[in-house]
Amino acid sequence: MVDTRAISLIMALRGQGITDQRVLSAIERTPREIFVDKPFETSAYADSALPIACGQTISQPFVVALSTQELDVQPSHRVLEIGTGSGYQAAVLAQLCRMVYTVERHKPLMQAAYARFQKLKLHNIVTRHADGFRGWPEQAPFDRILLTAAIPEVPQTLIEQLKPGGILIAPVGKPVSVESFSQDLVKIIRTEEGTREQSLIPVVFVPMVPGLPQVSSDGAGEDK
Ligand code: SAH
Repeated sequence: MVDTRAISLIMALRGQGITDQRVLSAIERTPREIFVDKPFETSAYADSALPIACGQTISQPFVVALSTQELDVQPSHRVLEIGTGSGYQAAVLAQLCRMVYTVERHKPLMQAAYARFQKLKLHNIVTRHADGFRGWPEQAPFDRILLTAAIPEVPQTLIEQLKPGGILIAPVGKPVSVESFSQDLVKIIRTEEGTREQSLIPVVFVPMVPGLPQVSSDGAGEDK
């Protein structure tokens, strides 16, 4: 049964210009309350980003909706996501395409997201604990690529893993302080000649961080 709060969220997203019915239905069917931590369950359907473990965030539903709509995902597509986080964006994508490959550098986040995909019987999502800067070369090329962590510039390695005609969306921006970036959600279309780029909206995402978190031998570290 669909939560009535999900229906209100869908109406709000429509009001903000999300018109793709497939995207709205996928969001309506995705129980966001299982992707947030217990203390935030009551805010699960508010249109806002929320904190998750490892100092990261689950994206705002409007940004998930807009990114998914702009990706124009088709049922035959194989999609790469960098930054699994809670797994919410991957769960929405999985209902619209053939296969989602999602990469996360924090192992506890990846494991929790995997458990959620199992619970929701989303068997077309493959998870990987790795540094997303490398993409997923063994599975490339992808029809679509979505970065959900901010970077100053989209690495060429990722553009090379996109099929010609493919779309990549990423929050792109420069750090304005240690913690904050001034970012735009950017849509890049790979053409035969190169790429075409378009800015969608200003956004705030956590930064994409190279490498894996260091965990010392006593188990203490960034991932605890
Ligand atoms: N898509 C997520 C939101 C992600 S927040 C959701 O729907 O909940 C951004 C995520 O990107 C964080 O979990 C962060 O750990 C991850 N991340 C940052 N740098 C990364 C990297 N180099 N490789 C893989 N994941 C990365």
